[in-house]
Amino acid sequence: MTRDDYDLDNIIKSSFEEAIEYFNKNGIKVEGLKLKIAKSIWSFYDIFISRFIIILFIISVFIYKILYHAENILIRNSLIIFIIAILMRYPIIIFIIAFFMTVGYLLFLYQRSQGVHFLPDKKIFIIKKHLEETVNRILDDLSHSNIKDSSVIGIKSSKNSIVLHPFYINMKKDIVNDLVKTITDIVVIHETVHYIFGNDERKTSTFEFLVYFYKNEFYKYPEVYEIIEENIKICKTYIEENKELDAYELGRCYGNIIIHKNKQSTNINIKDIIEEIKNLSKKDVIDTIRNYKMY
Ligand SMILES: [Zn+2]
Repeated sequence: MTRDDYDLDNIIKSSFEEAIEYFNKNGIKVEGLKLKIAKSIWSFYDIFISRFIIILFIISVFIYKILYHAENILIRNSLIIFIIAILMRYPIIIFIIAFFMTVGYLLFLYQRSQGVHFLPDKKIFIIKKHLEETVNRILDDLSHSNIKDSSVIGIKSSKNSIVLHPFYINMKKDIVNDLVKTITDIVVIHETVHYIFGNDERKTSTFEFLVYFYKNEFYKYPEVYEIIEENIKICKTYIEENKELDAYELGRCYGNIIIHKNKQSTNINIKDIIEEIKNLSKKDVIDTIRNYKMY
C-alpha cells in the first residue's frame, strides 16, 4: 500500500462511530453530534457564514461607536460624513472588509487544525488535508528509525507536541493504514470530547488521551508504560523549569498521570474521571504534575 492508497472518508466515519459507541457503552450519552468531513479549511461554509455575520455585526458596532463617541464634534461630523459618503457610494466595502477579516480569522485559528468543533450546531469537522499532512510527517519520522519487530512506540500527534501518543506498530499489518486510523482516532476523539467539556482545551485533551488509551486497550502492552513515564518526566521538567505548556499539552500531561496512577487497571470509571477533570483548575493540574511521584 502506498501513502495515498487508503479510504480516508471511511476511516473517519468509522472512527466517529466507534467513539460514539465507546461513550454510550460507558454511560455517556453523546446525542445529535454530527460529523462533517472537510477537504481543507475552505470547506467550512457553515462556520464561514456564521463567523462572517458576527464580524459584520462587530464592524457595524465599531463604526457606530466611532461615529457617536468621537469627542471632538468637528472630527465626529467629518467622520460621519466621510464614512456615510463612502458606504453610500460603495456599500460593498463593508462586506469586503468583513470577508477578508473572516478569512484571516479562520486561517489564523484553524491553519493547522486537524479537527474543529462547532458546538452551537453540534458539529465536528475533520480536515482531511491536515490529517494527511500529519500522517506524512510521522511516516517521514518513522522512516529514519529502524523498527524490526511489532512494538508500541510514541508518536507526535501534532508537530510541537511534547507528550507522545502510544502507537502499536504491527509488522504483520499495513503500517500506513494503521497510522492513518490512529491519527484519525486521536482527532475524532478529541473533537467528540469537546461535546462533554465545551471549549476547554485542557480538560478535553486530558480526557482525549484517556479515551484513546483505554479504548485501544494499550494497558495490554507493558512497554507502553515506558512511554507514559517518559511523558510524565518531560511534563515535570517543563513545569519545574517554568516553561509554558499550552492547554493541550497540560491536559495530556495530566491524562498520563491518571493512567500511571491506575497502572494495574484495564479500565477507569469514565464518569468519575469526567467529574474529577471538570472540577480541576489549571493550578491544581500544574501542582499535581509537579508533585507527582512515579516510584
Ligand atoms: Zn480542541
